[in-house]
Amino acid sequence: MTTHCCEAMNHRADVRCDEHDDPFACPDALIDYSAESQEYGLIIHDGGTSSITVDFCPWCGRSLSPRGRVQDSA
Ligand SMILES: [Zn+2]
Ligand SMILES: [Zn+2]
Repeated sequence: MTTHCCEAMNHRADVRCDEHDDPFACPDALIDYSAESQEYGLIIHDGGTSSITVDFCPWCGRSLSPRGRVQDSA
């Protein structure tokens, strides 16, 4: 399991729902995390697959973008 910036994000980015395979179809899913690009998206439940990329965690405020993380450690 991927470890994210905080407990809340761990919870939200790894929502496992019995009813919906697709997080975009699940009203409980808030965050779409792409392991490939390491980007976090805020899921917009408009019936499609829209999401807003978020650069900061809405819960702990830490930088989420890969670029931001590099800058943080520099
Ligand atoms: Zn966080
Ligand atoms: Zn669901």
